[in-house]
Amino acid sequence: MTAALIDGKAHAATLVERVAAAVPAFAAARGRVPGLAVVVVGDNPASAVYVRNKLARTATAGMRSIEHRLPATVSEAGLLALVATLNADDAVDGILVQLPLPPHIDDAKVLVAIAPDKDVDGFHPVNAGRLATGLPGLVPCTPTGCLMLLKDTVGDLSGAEAIVIGRSNIVGKPMAALLTAASATVTLAHSRTRDLAGHVARADIVVAAVGVPELVRGAWLKPGAVVIDVGMNRIAHTDGTTKLVGDVAFAEARAVAAAITPVPGGVGPMTIACLLRNTLVAAHLRAGLPPVVGL
Ligand code: NAP
Repeated sequence: MTAALIDGKAHAATLVERVAAAVPAFAAARGRVPGLAVVVVGDNPASAVYVRNKLARTATAGMRSIEHRLPATVSEAGLLALVATLNADDAVDGILVQLPLPPHIDDAKVLVAIAPDKDVDGFHPVNAGRLATGLPGLVPCTPTGCLMLLKDTVGDLSGAEAIVIGRSNIVGKPMAALLTAASATVTLAHSRTRDLAGHVARADIVVAAVGVPELVRGAWLKPGAVVIDVGMNRIAHTDGTTKLVGDVAFAEARAVAAAITPVPGGVGPMTIACLLRNTLVAAHLRAGLPPVVGL
């Protein structure tokens, strides 16, 4: 068997088109387009690339983005003051504070300061609680994108055996919650899991969000499984070049699975598209407008 490739780029482009198509109706109802504020502290080059991408895609979707750049020396109080200003600004529907923050600033303190209804990253404990209890709210972008890819690939997830490897607050735990809500039977594995290969072997759906290059081997997989590889690991070659690889041994897995996301070009593009989707969702929730159908 050669697994079908799940084309995250194409799915993401379709999602951005859907978001863009819904913006004019919001603008007609509210007299403005949805607005996303992106806060960047310091000059981490990786963050700069992510943020540039996010801002460019926001414009593609016809939404407004506002970038706030603060020096690495800004105090925690200074950053919290900016967040408070953005919370109070009615033209701002989504607030994203790009991580990592400098060591003198407490990430958790900043993330809980963001108004939950503007928390487009979905990291606020209020949104985590809403997800856990089935209430409408903002869900982290990466697992939202993974669920969309799974639904498009598999269809109904009800009763499927799923394993999520990795239990971070930003990927693994919300992924497990989303799959549970979709009525899959979910195993949440982590670094203390005994016999990971044995758990993976039972799974119809494998979501790997670990950060260990090629941890999941092809021989572990159930034939016909659908594999979502969230991992983004940069590997250095001896000649000085680097390569991005996932948490799944791609070539091996492709010979066993029914469908698999490539790295890059799988989950990554969906994460940014879901940020735009979340900004539109936040704008609708805040305005008391009904949810956009098909998002
Ligand atoms: P994280 O916070 O470091 O969490 C990693 C998780 O993997 C932890 O729960 C850890 O278990 C578990 N783990 C570590 N080694 C393991 C092992 N040998 N066997 C089983 N589980 C193991 O990472 P993250 O932020 O969730 O990110 C995970 C990966 O996804 C990274 O490669 C990251 O770059 C990538 N990522 C990609 C996107 C995207 O848009 N494509 C977005 C976010 C993250 P413990 O809890 O027991 O320590």
